[in-house]
Amino acid sequence: MTAQRIDGNALSQQIRAQVAADTAALKAQGLTPGLAVVLVGDNPASQVYVRNKVKACQDAELHSVLEKYEATMSEADLLARVEALNNDPQIHGILVQLPLPAHIDAQKVIEAISPAKDVDGFHIASAGALMTGMPGFWPCTPYGCMKMIESIGYDLRGKHAVVIGRSNIVGKPMALMLLQQNATVTICHSATPDLKAHTLQADVIVAAVGKRNVLTADMVKPGAVVLDVGMNRNEEGKLCGDVDFDGVSQVASFITPVPGGVGPMTITMLLVNTLESAKRALSAEH
Ligand code: NAP
Repeated sequence: MTAQRIDGNALSQQIRAQVAADTAALKAQGLTPGLAVVLVGDNPASQVYVRNKVKACQDAELHSVLEKYEATMSEADLLARVEALNNDPQIHGILVQLPLPAHIDAQKVIEAISPAKDVDGFHIASAGALMTGMPGFWPCTPYGCMKMIESIGYDLRGKHAVVIGRSNIVGKPMALMLLQQNATVTICHSATPDLKAHTLQADVIVAAVGKRNVLTADMVKPGAVVLDVGMNRNEEGKLCGDVDFDGVSQVASFITPVPGGVGPMTITMLLVNTLESAKRALSAEH
């Protein structure tokens, strides 16, 4: 079997075109969705991420603001900026790029963001909303994975999904989203003694670890759907995922590549969440 690729760039283009169309419709009603991206310090990877996020907003004609601060910014000053953005009616989404410098308590900053503008979905209120099935913002990366599964018309009901990784921003919310779609979910992590025993049972595997070749062909049931969230570098310095793409492609039915898979979908879902936040703000006005 040679797996079909789920193309994150192509799916992103489709969804971003819809975001642009919906944004134009909101603008016609006098409201421009706005995202504020806050970067503290000069982490090179973070600089690339925020640039891509702002560019994606511009391409979809959303209003965006990039606030850049020195790594020496105090926690109190950052909290004050977040509070100002919470009260800014032109801003519907606030994203504070992680990681923050060590002297700033990242969780405290995330909790300072209004849950109504928490388009990254990291606030404890957003996590609670996802867990209880209430309206809130879903974290962008697992949300993007769900869109990729939806795009191939795959019905998760009764399927066995294995998530490798249990972080608050990918693994755990991913598991909850799969559960919400009626999959039976197993979460594996670094203390799981026999990963292969679990993955071999899986109809759907999401790898979110951050280590190359965590998932190889011998660990995958024929016909499984494989999503690769990982972002690593190989010996040549090229971007690669957690999955041995060439090997697993021979066994799986669908697979996401790295690059060009989950990565672009993460930014796309940030736009989707910002648009949704603006729509909620508009309906709250009426
Ligand atoms: P993280 O916080 O470091 O979590 C990694 C998880 O993997 C942990 O739960 C860890 O278990 C588990 N793990 C480590 N070694 C393992 C092993 N050998 N077998 C099974 N599980 C193992 O990372 P993250 O933030 O979730 O990100 C995961 C990966 O996704 C990274 O490569 C990151 O760069 C990438 N990522 C990509 C996007 C995107 O847009 N494409 C977005 C976010 C993250 P313990 O909990 O037991 O330590």
